[in-house]
Amino acid sequence: MVINNFIGLNVRKRANYLCEYCHSPERSNATPFTIDHLIPQSLGGSDDLSNLALACHRCNQRRYNFTSGIDPQTQTEVSLFNPRYHHWSEHFIWTKDGLNIIGTGVGT
Ligand SMILES: [Zn+2]
Repeated sequence: MVINNFIGLNVRKRANYLCEYCHSPERSNATPFTIDHLIPQSLGGSDDLSNLALACHRCNQRRYNFTSGIDPQTQTEVSLFNPRYHHWSEHFIWTKDGLNIIGTGVGT
């Protein structure tokens, strides 16, 4: 099923027009952000609003079809950030210069 404009608008409003992974504003991007499936369609994920997230192109490409990754510090498999279940501020923080986002290691 194709994400229609109504669903896309609801995803954007819920995300406050920010990428739900890096919090970049959509308005500062030359092209509209993508609608990401938290559980990829290839793994049976639905087009339900609860399975969708607004994602910039960079975050969407990096996440690809992965729902988990290897923690570089512990070398264990951990779930990737899910904006429906996790609180962004518990997992990430901007560096003081405002140029980078780093993981806090909290809430993994
Ligand atoms: Zn992003």
